[in-house]
Amino acid sequence: MPRQCANECIFCFCKGNPADARPSLFIKDEDVRLSFLYGNYTTLTSITEDEMQRIIEQRLSPQYVSIHATDLTVRAYLLGVDEHRADIAPKLARLLDAGIEIHAQVVLCPGITTVRSCGKTINDLAAQYPRVTSVAIVPLGLTRYNTDARLTAVTPEFCGK
Ligand code: SF4
Repeated sequence: MPRQCANECIFCFCKGNPADARPSLFIKDEDVRLSFLYGNYTTLTSITEDEMQRIIEQRLSPQYVSIHATDLTVRAYLLGVDEHRADIAPKLARLLDAGIEIHAQVVLCPGITTVRSCGKTINDLAAQYPRVTSVAIVPLGLTRYNTDARLTAVTPEFCGK
């Protein structure tokens, strides 16, 4: 079984599944081995010291990391964790300083990801290029099963901004 996350992301894909979906669709994987092997994204919110050392010592590079926002308040809100756990900056710096290549991901959520916070995220990550190799920016995906009132559907106008 892969390592699983301890986050409560408001946009979690598991909340978009029908209740009778097959159990494997509810696995909230957060496993740096799968990130290295298959490109699965992790948030690093609950990475252990052993896992961090393993990435560095065994050169498990690249790692695919869900950043979502470099603004700590926004990131903590999106992930549903406190700011201490959401603070990715020191972990990211440690991996980058050790020569681990990072591919970043940002999920855009209208009303939460503002133009300002998105711009800050892109600029902060761009400043780390080429150590941060890519930034994948994807819109929030909603199904009829995720009815969280905090979420607003993406529109073409929002994406245009
Ligand atoms: S990190 Fe992924 S699996 Fe975990 S709550 Fe967030 S979206 Fe869901």
